[in-house]
Amino acid sequence: MRILVLGAGFGGLELTTSLSEEFGDDVEITLIDKGDGFVFGFSKLDVMFGRTIAERVVHPYRDLLKPGVTFVQSTIRSIDPTAKRVETDAGPFEADLMVVALGADLHPEATPGLVESGHEFYTVPGAFALRDVLAEFPGGRVVVGVTSTPFKCPPAPSETALLVHDFLTERGLRDSSEIALVMPLGAPIPPSPDASAALLEAFAERGIAWHPEQLIISVDGDRRVLVCASGTELPYDLFLAVPVHRPPTVVLDSGMCVDGWVPVDPLTLETAFPGVYAVGDVTSVGTPKAGVFAEGQASVAAQQIAAALRGQDATETYDGTGICYLEFGHDQVAKVEVTFLSGHAPHGDMEGPSSVLAEDKVAFGTSRIRRWFGRDWATD
Ligand SMILES: Cc1cc2nc3c(=O)[nH]c(=O)nc-3n(C[C@H](O)[C@H](O)[C@H](O)COP(=O)(O)OP(=O)(O)OC[C@H]3O[C@@H](n4cnc5c(N)ncnc54)[C@H](O)[C@@H]3O)c2cc1C
Repeated sequence: MRILVLGAGFGGLELTTSLSEEFGDDVEITLIDKGDGFVFGFSKLDVMFGRTIAERVVHPYRDLLKPGVTFVQSTIRSIDPTAKRVETDAGPFEADLMVVALGADLHPEATPGLVESGHEFYTVPGAFALRDVLAEFPGGRVVVGVTSTPFKCPPAPSETALLVHDFLTERGLRDSSEIALVMPLGAPIPPSPDASAALLEAFAERGIAWHPEQLIISVDGDRRVLVCASGTELPYDLFLAVPVHRPPTVVLDSGMCVDGWVPVDPLTLETAFPGVYAVGDVTSVGTPKAGVFAEGQASVAAQQIAAALRGQDATETYDGTGICYLEFGHDQVAKVEVTFLSGHAPHGDMEGPSSVLAEDKVAFGTSRIRRWFGRDWATD
């Protein structure tokens, strides 16, 4: 049995690990990714704010040695979901079952003026480059803003605004600076009124201006203003942007997308193409685009595949739950357990923030690296 896993992010790594644990060399899993290593989304913020260095947060795929798994570093150029075949720069690959875990592509160039006169912090190069930009920032008007929906990790812009506050305070620049947060949502974390209230209180305490239900659609670098979809203009000196998200072109061209993203059965993660599953940010399954949800979906898809391989019925279906960690700054982290169950209003309770939960978040990351790569997260 040959299984193709497209994308070695949160979803692809978890799915490959689960199947390798279950079947070892009895299946042939080919995991394909164009990158040479995995980076957690939250590590981007750590590098950007100088809390760690780039070398410590890139987990090379060359370490990925799992029974039954071959990792291929190559760009996927086309996907045929009917034939379960892909064309890559390393040649064609074909399989009996296929999983699409290619995430969301980021397009800073889709927002006029952003590339020339702003900075995005969602790509690895963008976030890593911001480390130097922030280190040299003399203070001024900082705007953290979202340019389109949907976007990954809805808490990340709020966390970024709080971390900017700490960063400027530590450098003695807070009094000469202003921080604004522009979000398309009506509340920072809509499914969790507790977490939203705690964040709004934290913004108020720190003097962070909150602009809900707004999107930034262009950047006028000459006039130093950000233009919102409503027509409102916000002056800025440093714009930290969440760029436009789209499905990868190769997925769009495959004919798997409907109204933007890949629809899946919300219980099994199977697509409209028999034997082809999709997990994570590339889907329109109804959960936020976040690693914890990609991981949960991968785990269920792996069980569905395992059951199919054994000729049994799968016992577990996807329940839309996930734990989000929320950085409040000052090493204080909160935890929100959210459930997005189809047919029910999404809901999440908040725990913390506390320094114990900050340790919990670190443990979450190290446990995934140990599980997926079979080694400890190198910290030196
Ligand atoms: C700043 C920031 C902070 C975040 N914080 C959190 C957090 O605290 N908790 C959380 O749960 N989530 C967080 N996220 C979101 C999280 O990173 C993503 O939602 C998660 O990585 C999605 O997993 P995925 O497997 O769907 O896609 P990804 O992890 O994006 O993986 C997709 C993979 O596909 C590969 N790929 C794409 N196209 C091709 C191609 N044509 N050929 C070959 N390979 C290709 C990519 O290289 C990539 O490795 C954060 C994101 C950001 C930007």
